[in-house]
Amino acid sequence: MIDKIWKNGHIVSYDQAKVGINTHALHYGSSVFEGIRAYNTVNGVGILKLKEHMKRFIYSMESLGMVCNYSLEELCQAVIKTVKASGLESCYIRPLAYYAEGPVSVLPKEGHPVDITIYCLEMGKYMAADKVDIKVSKYIRIHPKSTVCDAKIGGHYVNSILASRETIDTHYHEALLLDMDGNVAEGAAMNIFFIKNNELITTPLGTILDGITRRLIISIGRDLGINVTERYFKVEELIEADEAFFCGTAVEVTPIASIDDKKLKASNYKITNQIKATYEKVKKGEFYKDALTYI
Ligand code: PMP
Repeated sequence: MIDKIWKNGHIVSYDQAKVGINTHALHYGSSVFEGIRAYNTVNGVGILKLKEHMKRFIYSMESLGMVCNYSLEELCQAVIKTVKASGLESCYIRPLAYYAEGPVSVLPKEGHPVDITIYCLEMGKYMAADKVDIKVSKYIRIHPKSTVCDAKIGGHYVNSILASRETIDTHYHEALLLDMDGNVAEGAAMNIFFIKNNELITTPLGTILDGITRRLIISIGRDLGINVTERYFKVEELIEADEAFFCGTAVEVTPIASIDDKKLKASNYKITNQIKATYEKVKKGEFYKDALTYI
């Protein structure tokens, strides 16, 4: 049950945090959010990459012209306070900022109220399978000339919802979105990597969300002595990969079994497993020790 919500500086109950029908974000998708995980470790509850997430949160707010009355440090402290208040150990944290109730007009007028809330949920494994079968969506990922692709804006997720809906009543676990030029972009809520001849390859920034897990994986890869390259690639190249995986806060590191029913041939997932094992150590505070902020 979610009953401890940080809202505009105070911990309130779920009922007190409810929004009204005239909330701008409800009509126009004018919200921004984050998804962060906290892990229970031998040193206590640690929040993974807290500062990076809240930096992106502020960046997303700015992209929609929202005035943030809190500093980065204050927002990080608010997250810590919320996790403590929730009493949860391992959990998923959802900071959310939205244009609240105000005049009905697409462009929020200067001074249109912005609410910020933070709350925690229990979240175990996000994916339905250990290795996922994915389907290339007919929808392309939001176009960089239509929006601010690397901001985590609520309205962007209509694109993700539509792509994910194509997997309903099929054996596919997840959707894969291409960009406007037919290059592989990312999943509905996750970035993608593949491995070919011991090289770790991922989509460059531009059309995708600048995933915090993606940054972590790039760094883990390099520290494991793996060559890491950010470049465009097509689905055909992905199908020929030795290994592939999705990554993100919710999905963590999830190997991909097949793309449009074509099984990845090689795969013993050797490098994926190596990266996954290191990621598990980060979650426990045993590797990149400063990646966790203890509450
Ligand atoms: N892409 C999209 C579209 C996402 O929603 C997410 C989840 N935030 C990701 C990638 C992965 O980002 P992160 O590693 O920061 O969770």
